Amino acid sequence: MAEHYDVVIVGGGMVGLTLACALGETALKVAVLEAHPMERSWPEASIGLRVSAITHATRKVFERIDAWRGMVERRVTSYGEMHVWDASGDGEIHFDGAEAGAPSLGYIVENRVVQLALMERVEQLANIDLLCPAHWQQWSDDGEALLLTLDDGRQLHTQLLVGADGVQSQVRERAGIETKGWGYDQHAVMAIVKTEKSHQHTCWQRFLPNGPLAFLPMHEHYSCVVWSTTPEQAQILMGDSEQIFADKLADAFDHTLGAIVEVCERGSFPLRMQHTVDYVKERIALVGDAAHAIHPLAGQGVNLGILDAAALAETILSAYDARRDIGGLATLRRYERWRKGQNVAMMLSMDGFKRLFGSDVSALKVARNLGLNATNSFTPLKRIFMEYAMGERGDLPKTAL
Ligand SMILES: Cc1cc2nc3c(=O)[nH]c(=O)nc-3n(C[C@H](O)[C@H](O)[C@H](O)COP(=O)(O)OP(=O)(O)OC[C@H]3O[C@@H](n4cnc5c(N)ncnc54)[C@H](O)[C@@H]3O)c2cc1C
Repeated sequence: MAEHYDVVIVGGGMVGLTLACALGETALKVAVLEAHPMERSWPEASIGLRVSAITHATRKVFERIDAWRGMVERRVTSYGEMHVWDASGDGEIHFDGAEAGAPSLGYIVENRVVQLALMERVEQLANIDLLCPAHWQQWSDDGEALLLTLDDGRQLHTQLLVGADGVQSQVRERAGIETKGWGYDQHAVMAIVKTEKSHQHTCWQRFLPNGPLAFLPMHEHYSCVVWSTTPEQAQILMGDSEQIFADKLADAFDHTLGAIVEVCERGSFPLRMQHTVDYVKERIALVGDAAHAIHPLAGQGVNLGILDAAALAETILSAYDARRDIGGLATLRRYERWRKGQNVAMMLSMDGFKRLFGSDVSALKVARNLGLNATNSFTPLKRIFMEYAMGERGDLPKTAL
């Protein structure tokens, strides 16, 4: 006997769980399928390697769904300033939250903290079932609903299936939704490090010839490093001893925060830009990295995904209130129209930045340095950049306002 749901979400990552919470305390019955067991605890002194810079818009969504408290109680670091400069010139730009009248520009949070706080919230919501670990095997479509069969033989009947299953989304593949994109021929080497000098609650980013090197501030003197570089250099950096890695990192960062006194964790991730041709099909919707993957240089990836989740929830709930089919293409196209334009604009500007700063052409190097300095001294334009970085521009869902 199949269990009946209105919405089944495949993927209990940050985006899938946010969508589930945003559909909490409503008349809809929702299931979340997550393939991997959730990490519920870790040694207090450990710091997760995967962290995200999250915007004010994302924080507001987390507050509305009552998950922010669970993150703050664990560990959230706010940052008030951002400093970006080009290693091959004198161009630099400096953003200060105080200029926008904001106490901070954004927050740095470990992904595992975000996921656990969201999961705890999901577990409090009576209309949401978290099936974990769970894998789907196949689905069939009777025209009015999908019948999803899980590995253990359980069957779920649903009006709408949401793929929140990340960049390699199997929901997207099974639905036959095409993606377009390209590899950057870059890897991001991530590391948690302790620096000699304080990070001053500032996000630092230095553009090097092989890619940007960012230091994201965490508690005390700890930072999360995101070093985008060639796959060859990434492999070498991953194989270096802790001391050699620390020395190379301090050199590449021009000793801005002094010596690297401790390297706790290291990992390497290939970088891609990827976008799906469609976000929706009849009874199917994609959110987060399943729909789009973006270069991490401006730390916007999960923020776009959280806004997808909030926009999709708003679209579903308004269709439900108006007694329209929540999985019908007409409903889902509203969500797609809403989010696609916003995401494409952000993806193209990040891609443009990446190419501009990756270029070795002398004229472009001069132009980008002039551009950085000009933007730095032109307050209205700087303010627009700052509002984008804080997630406060664009057509935002109600929960992000
Ligand atoms: C190096 C790097 C640095 C980054 N830094 C930032 C940053 O600072 N700020 C920012 O906003 N973004 C950042 N991002 C991007 C951000 O990490 C992603 O956008 C975000 O993780 C996407 O979340 P998601 O929930 O869509 O997908 P995922 O995090 O990939 O989650 C997908 C979930 O689905 C589950 N799943 C997969 N397949 C199945 C299946 N068949 N059945 C059930 N479950 C399944 C997975 O186990 C997982 O839990 C960075 C990315 C990289 C690579």
